[in-house]
Amino acid sequence: MSDQTETETETETETSARIPVASPDLGGNEAAYLAECIRDGQISSRGRFVGRFEAGVAAACGVAHGVAVSSGSNALHVALRALGIGPSDEVIVPSLTMIACGNAVVQTGARLVVCDVDRATWNVCPRSLAEAIGPRTRAALLVDLYGRPLDPAPLAVCAARGVPIVEDAAEAFGARASDGRAAGAIGRLAIFSFYANKIITTGEGGMVLTDDDELAERARRLCDMWFVPERRFFHPEVGYSYRMSNLQAAVGCAQLERAEALIARRQDNAVRWRAALDGIPGIALPAPPAPGSRHVHWMFGILVEERAGMDRDRLAACLAADGIETRPFFLGLHAQPCYPDARRLPCEVAEDLGARGLLLPSGPALSDDDIARVAAVIRRAGR
Ligand SMILES: *Cc1c(COP(=O)(O)O)cnc(C)c1O
Repeated sequence: MSDQTETETETETETSARIPVASPDLGGNEAAYLAECIRDGQISSRGRFVGRFEAGVAAACGVAHGVAVSSGSNALHVALRALGIGPSDEVIVPSLTMIACGNAVVQTGARLVVCDVDRATWNVCPRSLAEAIGPRTRAALLVDLYGRPLDPAPLAVCAARGVPIVEDAAEAFGARASDGRAAGAIGRLAIFSFYANKIITTGEGGMVLTDDDELAERARRLCDMWFVPERRFFHPEVGYSYRMSNLQAAVGCAQLERAEALIARRQDNAVRWRAALDGIPGIALPAPPAPGSRHVHWMFGILVEERAGMDRDRLAACLAADGIETRPFFLGLHAQPCYPDARRLPCEVAEDLGARGLLLPSGPALSDDDIARVAAVIRRAGR
């Protein structure tokens, strides 16, 4: 994923201030905690902020264990390997997601199975998921896409068929499913990403969460080269150098202190986007979340319909010309050339959403003026 401070969309004719698609809010204790790390010489994964951050995130989600990891992508790899997934297994992933999901499956040696997403929720399609389950299915890696927690229907499919869920909650810190479970508490294992543009950040970073003592222990060993306390330099399994540093965790602890405020601002952004874009012909807004659930709107997505009088890329270009940065929806895993051996179910919905979806600026610092300016450009662009 590209950096949060990229300037690719800046143009020479730009007159007003640039609106980035996302920018972190580091205005709390981040600098003070980092200074503490430097002062005490605690900069590796041995420092005290790491345990504090793990416990804080786990507690926020109501989960027993958190294992800090160097990135969300590595957390996915660790979660799958903790489950014992390897060659001869299959793992199902919905098409519309970040490439990290497919890569994690391939890294274990298992076969990637790509299923479609749902037209209304944009998350996994329960029918396609059910169809994808086969005798070698060992897990479903399901995504809380753009901050929308998983809906009851796909969870019921996995429960009925006995398929363990690995929840990719990278974009959904603070979200809650309609049964009250927090994002991060929905699967056998779950992961977060704390990349700079996520709900809370450590710059680069991630975490594996689980209630299962044994899976947590395996995840911890996997992140630390599978060193064992009993015997020096003796490694029963292959592990990785995926630890999070104390510097990253220090930033994470400061973010966690303000997490509710950061989440509230994203939810507030979504309410303001809805009001500002309501009634613009051909601009479809995200479906409301399932009753009783909490959507954290990591990014606010819109769909450009045919009657808008322009396609998605044309709208993105108009916004870019005005200094407004956007992102297209993910290009689906079904369309990725890097997975020649994947088993692909028909993915018409992911294909369609991927071509028409656009993510609007959604960071915690977005002002009313920013939103009004973007809405005005969208209104004008379609004429
Ligand atoms: C960001 C993200 C990841 C990967 O996280 P990194 O920390 O960037 O490695 C994985 N899955 C989804 C859905 C994401 O948005």
